[in-house]
Amino acid sequence: MRTIRHFFPEINAWMDEIRDPRFLPSIVYHKRFLVWWGLSLFLFKLGSRRQLDYELDAQNTRVLDNLNRLAGTQQKTRPVNKTLNYFLGRIGAQQVADLRTRLVRRLLRMRVLDAGRLQGHWVTATDGTGYLLFRQRHCPYCLERRYGEVTLYLHQVLEAKLLGPEGLVVSLGTVFIDQSDTADTPADADAERRKQDCELKAFNRLDAQLRTTFPQLSICYSGDSLFGCGRGLAMGNGPRRAFVYVLKPGRLPTLWQEFQTLLPLCAGQRRELVTSKGVRQVYRWVDNLSYTDSDKRPWSVTAIQCEETVDGQTTTWAWITNLKVNAETVISVATKGGRHRWHIENQGFNTQKNSGLNLEHAYSHRCWQAFYYLLQIAHLILQLVEKGNLLRQLAQELDKTPAQLFGSLKNIARRLLESFRFVRIQDEAYDPVAAAQIQIRLDSG
Ligand SMILES: [Zn+2]
Repeated sequence: MRTIRHFFPEINAWMDEIRDPRFLPSIVYHKRFLVWWGLSLFLFKLGSRRQLDYELDAQNTRVLDNLNRLAGTQQKTRPVNKTLNYFLGRIGAQQVADLRTRLVRRLLRMRVLDAGRLQGHWVTATDGTGYLLFRQRHCPYCLERRYGEVTLYLHQVLEAKLLGPEGLVVSLGTVFIDQSDTADTPADADAERRKQDCELKAFNRLDAQLRTTFPQLSICYSGDSLFGCGRGLAMGNGPRRAFVYVLKPGRLPTLWQEFQTLLPLCAGQRRELVTSKGVRQVYRWVDNLSYTDSDKRPWSVTAIQCEETVDGQTTTWAWITNLKVNAETVISVATKGGRHRWHIENQGFNTQKNSGLNLEHAYSHRCWQAFYYLLQIAHLILQLVEKGNLLRQLAQELDKTPAQLFGSLKNIARRLLESFRFVRIQDEAYDPVAAAQIQIRLDSG
C-alpha cells in the first residue's frame, strides 16, 4: 500500500476521471472500487476471474474494509466477478490503457527510470507474443494458424517495454495484432513469415501510439533481427528515435558479409574486458556500413560484434545501431541496448505467463483487452514492491534476501493476499503525506 501511495499518490483521482457510461440510478459499485477490485485479481495473482468471488470474499475477512480504504469508498458488500466484466465492457479498454500511461508518466517525472538511459534515450524492447489461443473462432479479429489438419485461432500483441534500472520492465505501449495485419501477406507464406509481417506492420502503429502518449520521450528501440529491414530502420531513424537490433547473417546477408570483410581492417576499433566472473569479452565494431532496403532507400549503420568466452567456449553476438559507437560507448551500447533486452524474458512475458499473472488465460471473452491493461498495471506495481528497498529492508532485518524470505514471487503475492484478507492494514499505510516522506529506492545499495 505504501509503495502505491508513494509512487502514485494521485491514482484515485486518476480513476475518478474515467468516464463511466453505466446507467446512474442502477450503479451500486463506485468505479474506483471496481478498478481496485480488478487490479486485485492480478496483484494477488488469483489466476482467474472466478477466484475473486472466493479468495476475496468479504465474509469473516477484512477484504471489504481494506478495499474501501484503498479506493476511498464506503461499499457495504463486495461485487461478484461478473460485475467487473460488465463494468470494464462499459468503460472500454482505452481508459484502462490511459490509466497505465499516467502511472508511467509519473515514474518518468519522478526520475525513477533514469538509470536505464542510454545516450539520452530510454531503451525500449519491442516484443511480440501470442497470448490467447482458441480452438474455434472466437471473434472476427482472430488470427488463423493452420497446423496440418488443425486450425487454431489466436490473439497476438506487440509491446514496447521500457527497460529500467534493476531489471524493471515497464510496459509503455501496446498494439493488438489481428487478422487485418495479414491482409497483404502472400497466401502461401509460412507461419514464420506471417508472424514477421504482422509484427512489422504492428510496429508502425506502436511507434505512432508512443508519439501520441509520450511525445517528448526519446526512445532507443531494442529489437531482434526481424527489425533489420527498411521498416525497422525507418522507425529507428525517426525524430527522437534510435535503435539497436540483433544482426543475423541470414537476415541481412550482404551487410553481414561487408561487416566481416572490414572487421580485420579496423583493428583499432576494439575493446577487451574480463568481467568479475572471469568471462572474457572482446568488442569490435565497424561504422558507416551501407544498406539499401527493398524500397531502394539507403541506410547507414554501425555494426558491433561481441565475442564472449566462458570456460573455453566462445559465443558471438552482433548488433546494428545508429547510436554513437567508440571505445568509451561500445560496451554500454552492446549491453544496455542489446543484451538487456533478454531481461524481458524474465520480467516480461515469461513472468506474466508463468508467475500466477496468467497472461494466457482468457479473463473475459468480450473485454480481454481491458483485462490485459489491468494486468500490465498490476505487474508494474508488483515490480515496484519486489524491487523497492522496503521489502529488502524487511528481509535484511532477518538477514535474508526477499527471495530467501518468501521463497518465490508467487509466495509474496500469497502473503499479500493473506494480509489483505485477515489484517486491517494500518491507516498510516494509506496516508499520502507519510508515503511522500519515505524513500523508496530501486537500486540494491
Ligand atoms: Zn478473437
